[in-house]
This record gives sequence, structure tokens and C-alpha cells, in this order.
Amino acid sequence: MASLGLEDQVVLVTGGNRGIGAAIVNLLLELGAKVAYTYRSDYNPQMGSLAISADVTDKAAMEAVTEKVEEKLGPIYGVVANAGITRDNFFPKLTTADWDAVIDTNLKGVYNTLKPVIPKMYERRSGSVVCITSISGDRGNLGQTNYAASKAGTIGLTKSLALEAARYGVRANTVSPGFIETDMLTPISDKVKQRILSEIPLSRFGKPEEVAWAVAFLLSPIASSYVTGTVVRVNGAHHT
Ligand code: NDP
Repeated sequence: MASLGLEDQVVLVTGGNRGIGAAIVNLLLELGAKVAYTYRSDYNPQMGSLAISADVTDKAAMEAVTEKVEEKLGPIYGVVANAGITRDNFFPKLTTADWDAVIDTNLKGVYNTLKPVIPKMYERRSGSVVCITSISGDRGNLGQTNYAASKAGTIGLTKSLALEAARYGVRANTVSPGFIETDMLTPISDKVKQRILSEIPLSRFGKPEEVAWAVAFLLSPIASSYVTGTVVRVNGAHHT
């Protein structure tokens, strides 16, 4: 029977307690991976996985996460940098605190997540990194200068990492979701949701599981072995 080859591979997912991250954790477990995930505030146990409390903005905490995962589950093969936040406002009203929070979580948080793991992957000549970016990073979005900057930055980080990592047998890719039904859509008014829906050719928001399958594909040492430095869009053709 065909397989994605993720059985018994150790994968770390940040922000795996809810939303897209939880869907990724669940799918990877179904595919037979050994999954560790971080949560910040809301512990939501997922059978068969290792849950670790850690904030991605805390560099030391993320170093400890890598150590703990390797001690409990074994060498990390895959990392999914998923944790992220929004603090939307039009640019004149955007506070420096909201700018900093989004950049620290969504961009520096990716750096903090990957920094302790990448050298280990290089040594082992094995690894697959998947960062979750956003349609906002691809094309910009009203009220999201901070968020779009963090997500476009993550695409640049990942593409550059892919170039450096290739010689070590390590791949790095991004998944760029469109609008996905999670808590992240809660602050958007019904009126704005209707406008966004009218722009999406598939005429609906995406589901977390639909993002999770793209992540599983990019993690797979079989299905995506020649795919690195790319952006996989999961957005219902919601382009510019
Ligand atoms: P949710 O708001 O449902 O979940 C966000 C997750 O990130 C939670 O697990 C949260 O943990 C975690 N998180 C946030 N800040 C931190 C932090 N400082 N340290 C550790 N964990 C943190 O969002 P989604 O599931 O929708 O989003 C997941 C990713 O997908 C994000 O990167 C987001 O930007 C991206 N994305 C989402 C889209 C959407 O439409 N939903 C569209 C495009 C991209 P806690 O529960 O502890 O707060």
C-alpha cells in the first residue's frame, strides 16, 4: 500500500492545541508519526502526542522544547512552524505594541523554533521544515501591514533556508492558507466575511484539515522529496 513515509518520524508542531495546528497534529498521528506539539495558554490533550507548554517568542523555551522532544521521542525529522497571531488595524491606528507582538510571534517565533533544530538536521542529513505563512503575505491585506510583513518575511526566510539546507539533505517549504475556518476568523465582521467570500472562486472558506494535508505532503520524504523552497497555496484560488 502507498504511504507518505511518515510512520515513526518525529515531528514538532508549534501551536498544535487548536485550529490549523491541531488538525496538523491529528493528521500526522493518523499517518503514524510521533508528534510533539507546543501550546501557549490552552492545554488541549491529543491522544498519543507529546504536549509541551512553550511560547515561541521565548528563545530559551524553544531550545528546551527541542531538547525535550529529542529526549522523549527521538531525533526530530520534521518541524511545522505554525503558531501565529493577528493584531489587525489600519496603519495610522496600528500601535507599536501590536506591530511588535505580531513580528515577534510570527517571524521571530519561526526563527526561535528553527534555530535549535536546523543544526541537528544538518548533522543527520535529514529533515523537512514547513512554515505556515498566509495569503496576506502573498498579496497583502487591508488592516494587516504587521501580519503581512511577518508572513512575507517567513516566506523569504524559508526560501533562503531551502537554498542553504539543500546540500545537507534538508528541505524547507511554506504553506500559504487563504481564509480558513478557525478562531482567527472570529474578529472579522459578517459584512467583511461576505466581501471576502465573494472574492473566493471556490465560494467558501477552507477547513483546517485541507491545510493539514498540504503540510503532510511537504513533510513526506517520499511524496515531496524533490520539492523545496516553494510556497504551496491552499486558498480556493483566492489570488490577486
Ligand atoms: P488560531 O488562532 O486558531 O491558533 C493559533 C495557534 O497559535 C494557537 O495554538 C496558539 O496558542 C498559537 N500561538 C499563538 N501565539 C503563540 C505564541 N506566542 N507561542 C506559542 N503558540 C502561540 O489560528 P489558526 O489555527 O487559524 O492559525 C495557525 C497558523 O495559520 C498561523 O500561523 C496563522 O497565521 C496561519 N494562517 C491562518 C489563516 C486562517 O484563516 N485561519 C490564514 C492564513 C494563515 P494558544 O492557544 O495558546 O493561544
